[in-house]
Amino acid sequence: MADVSQLNVAKFGGTSVANYQAMCNCAKIVINNPATRVVVVSASAGVTNYLVELSQTPLNKDQIATVVENIRQIQYSILNDLGKPAEVAYKLEALLHILEQLAYHEEILHRTDLKDELLSLGERMSSLLFAEVVSQMGTPAEKFDVRKVLRTDSEFSKGAPQIAEIKTLSQQLLLPELSRAIQVVQGFIGADEQGNTTTLGRGGSDFTAALLAEALDAQTCEIWTDVIGVYTTDPRITDKARPLPELSFEEAAEMATFGAKVLHPATMEPALRQDIKVFVGSSKEPEKGGTWIVRNCDHEPHYRAITRRKDQVMVTLKTPKMLHAQGFLQTVFTIIAKHKLSVDLVTTSEISVSFTLDNPPNSAVQKLNSKVLEELRALCEVVVEENFDLVTVVGNKMHSGAGVSSKIFDAVSAYNLRMICFGANPHNLSFLVSDKDSTDVVKVLHQKLFEEQAA
Ligand code: ADP
Ligand code: ASP
Ligand code: MG
Repeated sequence: MADVSQLNVAKFGGTSVANYQAMCNCAKIVINNPATRVVVVSASAGVTNYLVELSQTPLNKDQIATVVENIRQIQYSILNDLGKPAEVAYKLEALLHILEQLAYHEEILHRTDLKDELLSLGERMSSLLFAEVVSQMGTPAEKFDVRKVLRTDSEFSKGAPQIAEIKTLSQQLLLPELSRAIQVVQGFIGADEQGNTTTLGRGGSDFTAALLAEALDAQTCEIWTDVIGVYTTDPRITDKARPLPELSFEEAAEMATFGAKVLHPATMEPALRQDIKVFVGSSKEPEKGGTWIVRNCDHEPHYRAITRRKDQVMVTLKTPKMLHAQGFLQTVFTIIAKHKLSVDLVTTSEISVSFTLDNPPNSAVQKLNSKVLEELRALCEVVVEENFDLVTVVGNKMHSGAGVSSKIFDAVSAYNLRMICFGANPHNLSFLVSDKDSTDVVKVLHQKLFEEQAA
């Protein structure tokens, strides 16, 4: 019987479970830490994108067959490397059969419940295969259906976790299993009260791991991915980015909210509530260490990191009626709230209000849809401008230090900033720039804030 008084929840992202070899690296990480009794896996890299394509794009039968075949090949290559154990092969076939039925379903493009059921299959397949990889290495492991415990509301594609229920269900159904075998669960998916499958939004497996760590009173939560920690900025933007050994909960939450893809935006919420230390590291190079995200850091610099969020849309609402009119902003934000859009930056003038929204191409729903626009147009003139990116500097005491913002503005003085916002807390300063400029803006800011200092 394993000791479960010290509990770690380990999450492995899409590239970490992309193929058999990658899964073996992850299995070693799991086995090497006896505190790891719950493993959360994403779908194998590429699979969720294929599933989104099947659920969103009108495809003919041949095109559907091609996409299904691509998914089948990713999963079968792992199954084959496992030596095709009969029981796993049978279960994988059953999941692929459901996948095919949903892919060809005549209402797949229109029913959000079917879309979520289809999207859930990536994680359901990868968890089945990963549990077998761990078992074959000689450590008891089994797949556990996370939908039994990860209760959400019924909002398909962006299910809101029901924290109290998740805790009760996890303690009742998942905790007792931990002493017997490592439980491999699906990230990203959940179920509502009626048992319908829901999903948490793209990249949601990090959030699953943090939610389960909270529900099971775990001490730590590890996010294993393809980079050796959280960096000063996305290492894909500049090779000068460097990994951060330590980050505070607040800083990490800001980074996640403002586009550091390495963490799903909501990941830090459960960690903050329950004081769970979060580790981010590379499943390919675990020996290189990673970033520890903790409540308090020894050092709290003004500038910690720069993030970029792509695919921002700026909406400007103009009405002469807004002049001294009361309730206009309230009406606008009621519409936005009703459609569950999340607004980041807002600026107002006497007769206009501008705000930014996220509209990434691979999200499971198109957020700024014609319905929202129709409602806003009934109220006032609406101008929608696309092709913007949001750049954010994350740090500490950004409101109070003299010269903290001027150093940032000096660095980017050659660029046209369309909106500028200090966060409601002292941890961020954001601005909107053309997507054509954003890479250069991040590079030049990075140089000014981090490289010169380091020199
Ligand atoms: P996973 O599939 O493991 O969840 P993701 O692709 O979602 O992985 O997240 C890891 C990626 O996040 C990295 O490859 C990196 O390009 C990107 N990223 C963006 N910002 C940062 C940052 N500040 N630090 C580290 N990685 C970042
Ligand atoms: N598989 C899901 C996605 O690609 C969730 C995740 O990877 O975290 O968005
Ligand atoms: Mg991710």
